[in-house]
Amino acid sequence: MHELSITESVLEIVLRHANSANAQHVRKIQLVIGDLASIVDDSVQFYWDIISKDTLAEGATLQFRRLPIELLCLDCQNHFQPETDRFDCPRCGSSRLQIISGREFYVESIDVETNLPMSSYQNEQI
Ligand SMILES: [Zn+2]
Repeated sequence: MHELSITESVLEIVLRHANSANAQHVRKIQLVIGDLASIVDDSVQFYWDIISKDTLAEGATLQFRRLPIELLCLDCQNHFQPETDRFDCPRCGSSRLQIISGREFYVESIDVETNLPMSSYQNEQI
């Protein structure tokens, strides 16, 4: 995935929710990124500072929460987090694995300034 288009999607989601909450300003955005989603935090931050200019979200803080990779062995049903670069089951050595988590990328929360009570916000996949 390319960080610029990802960052544009984040901005689109953030502005849509900020508008529907009648926000004056967006303070903080929490993003969740799985370790298998090849997204570089610094690149997202770099593009964010450029494309959020002159929007409600200008100057908002981006926070990144990393989710570890979790795998399930299809041979022995072992559920584990792999060591770096070792994608086989530590119990039986099988490489028939299913990815349980690690590919996530979504906006977890948006913190806005508004005169109205904070509207509820659901996770949104990017
Ligand atoms: Zn196994």
